[in-house]
Amino acid sequence: MNRILSIILLLLLLGCNRNPLHQKIIVLDPGHGGTAETDSYRAGAAGEREEWVNLRVALELEKLLAENGAKVLLTRRDDTHVDLADRAQLAVDNRADLFLSIHHNATADTTVNFPTLYFHGYADENFASVRLAQITGEKLRSHLFNGGGPVVVASDHTIFPASGTAVLRESYGIPGIISEASFFTNPAEEQRLKQPEYNRLEAEALFDAIHTFFASRQPAIREKNSLHDLPPFAVFREADRMQPQAKNWHDFAAEAKDFAGIDDEDAWEMAYTLASMSIRSFPDSPVARDAHLTRAYVLDKLGRGDEAESARTIAEQFYVR
Ligand SMILES: [Zn+2]
Repeated sequence: MNRILSIILLLLLLGCNRNPLHQKIIVLDPGHGGTAETDSYRAGAAGEREEWVNLRVALELEKLLAENGAKVLLTRRDDTHVDLADRAQLAVDNRADLFLSIHHNATADTTVNFPTLYFHGYADENFASVRLAQITGEKLRSHLFNGGGPVVVASDHTIFPASGTAVLRESYGIPGIISEASFFTNPAEEQRLKQPEYNRLEAEALFDAIHTFFASRQPAIREKNSLHDLPPFAVFREADRMQPQAKNWHDFAAEAKDFAGIDDEDAWEMAYTLASMSIRSFPDSPVARDAHLTRAYVLDKLGRGDEAESARTIAEQFYVR
C-alpha cells in the first residue's frame, strides 16, 4: 500500500514539474494609470491612452497565466495612480519569480513600430533579465509582426541614463523587464491597440515568452556594478524626444557614419555631434548601438581614448543584439 502511495505521489510530482509555470509567482505591472488629467503625450493621435492599453493586456495575460498554474499579482487593476516604488515592492515582498512591466512606446517619428524590451543595468550582470527580454522580443515579433522587422533589447540606462527605471532598479535581483510591444504613436498601430482581440494576441505572445523562459534553467543575476560602472550618457528627456528635430534620428546616424569615414578632424567632430544627436533623439532606436560605435571610432581618432572605451562599453552592455 505504501509503495502504491509513493508511486502516486511521485507521478503527481512529475506531473507538476512538467508545467514550468506551476506555483510561479509572477507580478504584472500595467504601466502608468490615472494620468489623463496631467499627462498629454502618453496618448495616440486618436486619443487612445497608453495606460488603458497596458491594463487591458495585463488583465488578459493574468487570465492565461492563472489558468496555467501561476500565482499572479497585479500592481493595479483599474485606471488609478500607483507609486513606482510600490510596484517594485509588491514583487520584492512576495518573493516574485518574475516581474513584467507592460508598456507601449512613443516617439516623434510616427512611422516607427517595433517591440522594445528593457532590462536593468549591464547585460553581463543581469543575464536572466536579458534572456527574458530576448525571448519576449522574439515572441512579440512572431505573434504581432509576422516574424519581421527590428526588435530592440536595451538597458533601461539608455532612456534614464543616471539610474535606469525605478521599477526595475527597485526589484533588481528578480528576473524583470519592461515590455514595450509596439508604438502607439504609429496611427495604424494605435487603431489595432484599441481592439481587445489585438490586446489578447499580445497577451498570448507574453504568455508564450514567460512559459518559454521558465521551461529551461535561468541564468544567474550578478550584483549591480560588479563588472561595470560607467558615467551616464545624457539623452533628451521623454517629452523632448517628441520634438520635431528628434525625427531625424536615422539620418543623423547615417550622416555620422559618412563623416567618420572622411580623413579629417573637422569631419570627425561632425560625426561625433551627429552620432550623439541621433542617440539623444531616440536612445533606444535600432541604430543607437551603431551610433555609439561611431562615437567610439571618432573619439579614438580624436585622441580621446577613455571616452572611446566608455562608448564601446555602452554599445556592448546596453544594447543586446
Ligand atoms: Zn509607458
